Amino acid sequence: MTHCLNCGAERDADLCDSCGLNSSAAELALRGKLLNRTAFFVLGSLAFVAASSRYPALELDSIFIFIGVLFFTTLGLAILLERRALRHAEVEALRRIYYGLIPLPWLFSALLLVNGAMDRVPPQVEEARVIGKFSMGGALPSRRLIVSSWREGHRIERVPVDRSDYDSFSPGDPIEVRVEDGLVSIPWVAGVSHR
Ligand SMILES: [Zn+2]
Repeated sequence: MTHCLNCGAERDADLCDSCGLNSSAAELALRGKLLNRTAFFVLGSLAFVAASSRYPALELDSIFIFIGVLFFTTLGLAILLERRALRHAEVEALRRIYYGLIPLPWLFSALLLVNGAMDRVPPQVEEARVIGKFSMGGALPSRRLIVSSWREGHRIERVPVDRSDYDSFSPGDPIEVRVEDGLVSIPWVAGVSHR
């Protein structure tokens, strides 16, 4: 007894009672779906990067690590599923986990957008001092000003900034960071300026 690769119904003959596909046709159908859902997932990840640059969270680096782990886990699962489908092996449990992961980047993007766009409270201005700078090029360029922290229990903050802000600050400069609380309590950086 195995599950149909196409519809997931239990079946004991080559032809599925439920959807009428044989095992080869069901394999092709599953691989087509995998490809579509993976494309949807990758688009969601791009949407997340766009949302996080529009309303950069104060803890952006930790969020990126989390999303990166999610991204590679999901793609790894897609590869595993495809290989098992090729062998006509049982995929039902893995497939459910995989389908559950697909919408997550879209949900996180929506969360960041709502958190930033619907936040009507004026930002708090925090005074700090630039300690260092960090920038990384490549497909996802990121620029951070490392500044002294204003939060209890934190020594430094890595403030996401754009290129012009990044270039205009040097270590030792006093800085004002405009921080928003966020509608769903994800603090984000509205901007920085010279004090
Ligand atoms: Zn079926």
